[in-house]
Amino acid sequence: MLSVTEARERILSHFQATAEENIPLIECANRILSGDIFAAHDLPPFDNSSMDGFAIRAVDFSTAATLSVVADIPAGSAPTVTLAKGQAARIMTGAQLPKGADAVIPVEDTDFNSRDAGTAAPQTVTFVRKVQARENVRLRGTDLRAGEIVLDKGRRLKPQDLGLLAMLGVGQVQVYKKPHVALLSSGNELLEVDTPLTEGKIHDANSYALAALIESAGADVLRLGVAKDTRESVESLLQKAINTQVDLIVSSAGVSVGAFDFVKEVLESNGQLDFWRVNMRPGKPLAFGEYHGIPFFGLPGNPVSAFVGFEVFVRPALERLNGTLDGIRLTVRVRCGEEIQSDGRESYLRAKIRTEDGIRIATLTGHQGSGNLLSLVQADALLIIPAGVKCVPVGQEVEALQL
Ligand code: AMP
Ligand code: MG
Repeated sequence: MLSVTEARERILSHFQATAEENIPLIECANRILSGDIFAAHDLPPFDNSSMDGFAIRAVDFSTAATLSVVADIPAGSAPTVTLAKGQAARIMTGAQLPKGADAVIPVEDTDFNSRDAGTAAPQTVTFVRKVQARENVRLRGTDLRAGEIVLDKGRRLKPQDLGLLAMLGVGQVQVYKKPHVALLSSGNELLEVDTPLTEGKIHDANSYALAALIESAGADVLRLGVAKDTRESVESLLQKAINTQVDLIVSSAGVSVGAFDFVKEVLESNGQLDFWRVNMRPGKPLAFGEYHGIPFFGLPGNPVSAFVGFEVFVRPALERLNGTLDGIRLTVRVRCGEEIQSDGRESYLRAKIRTEDGIRIATLTGHQGSGNLLSLVQADALLIIPAGVKCVPVGQEVEALQL
């Protein structure tokens, strides 16, 4: 039987990053850089004041002093004065320092304490304390020098990255294209979410959870809908995936050994499908293959199995496709707050995490049946119980995938 790691490695060998595109900065949140970004200029780009106050020459006084105010420098202006001995300039936060100045004294530390907008600068100003050179000055290039590397290829762009790129005047960014993923549910029992339940039917839950998971992994979703348990229905819905030339197809249900599992049959006659018995729980055998040349994941139908199968196998594949080097799921070490039984397979158990004295403690969120989606909703993490372990005692640490 394959281990989870072996199965994942086999799968990942089929994927590589999609093509690149150049897009406007405003569309870049969560997109993945396809090349390193270098600073085109220094940051800050010029010496400037970090306070509203008076630009001065620190050498002009060792204690208090009265100076004549020779200029008024609002943010955004280019100062033309050069401060001489005994001179100061009123200056606002972010305004460029005039030549000759090497420090800024905040307005609160002067005898001029009008802070009303529109107030004219005074003729003279008296400082009530000594000032050090560089005080309240942000020197050009202290944060970043022109030519330095700012963001690495493979980075998933965060909101703060967009701000920094804007500071550097980067208005168009080279990123990997978003993978395009077709999503299919299958089963005669499935109803659309807004159709009232009738005898023997349930609502299609997987296509909602999986669509959101796919998007959270930085891909676009093409929802194919719900196929009936017939060959024709499965084929006709999958045709749309071919027409749209998606990068990947994800389906749920219909791939086990039941008499109505037509997804499996359709795949076998239009491509190729491998069934792997992976040593994990939850998760029936994992189906992976291709349909008319498009990589295909057949996830189990039970909602928790489909979710776990996505996190363990499909998300890493999507991350390979979208070129990211930093995924969104983090693992943390947690301490078991109860004794946990396992069956020796690598298990992903739904748990709630609480913190006591800075220590994370995990307790299971109810029965771990693979159809019990509520216990996944109540969970903060999936505890990963390694293969070969049958009992984890209270207090032992395990790895957990944060949800
Ligand atoms: P199957 O793999 O077709 O045997 O389905 C396994 C279980 O998952 C059955 O109980 C199905 O009713 C259930 N199931 C399949 N697809 C979905 C879905 N899209 N949403 C919720 N439950 C599903
Ligand atoms: Mg079925």
